[in-house]
Amino acid sequence: MSMLKSILSPNSCAECRVCCGFTRGDVWEIPLIYGENSAEVTQMLGAKLIPRGKEFVFDMDFSKGAISYCPALSENGCMLGNLKPFDCAVWPFRVNSVGGMRVITVSPVCETVYSLPLKTLAEFVRKDGFSQMLFDEADKHPDIVKPYIKGYPILDVEI
Ligand code: SF4
Repeated sequence: MSMLKSILSPNSCAECRVCCGFTRGDVWEIPLIYGENSAEVTQMLGAKLIPRGKEFVFDMDFSKGAISYCPALSENGCMLGNLKPFDCAVWPFRVNSVGGMRVITVSPVCETVYSLPLKTLAEFVRKDGFSQMLFDEADKHPDIVKPYIKGYPILDVEI
């Protein structure tokens, strides 16, 4: 979150947390726990992880309702601290693959960020190497590249 503080305040996140809840339809968007962190996360939360590509994701329990909240979510926010998934640290921005090229998109699900002018968002991702940092992370962990959803604004393209 701190990476995004110029456009997304901690208070906005504390009052929302929509990005920490998942339905069966968006299990593909559950954040990746990197393999090197999986043992520590399992030990910390006692939550079950299942493989996703070369990494892991939480095994969400949908038996109690349509929305399953991440097992790392507490009343005080995310319990993972330094182990918070990269996916979460940069959400609602994501790396997608479109036509063989990697791009940076923004998810409309985050109403606070999505309400900003697209020009502001495009400037944000191009400033201070933010896009490149996401592309570099995708080199190391290709499973963070999410499927492109038609209509999601493309803010930057890797060239
Ligand atoms: S890991 Fe933390 S920030 Fe990410 S979805 Fe779970 S509670 Fe939310």
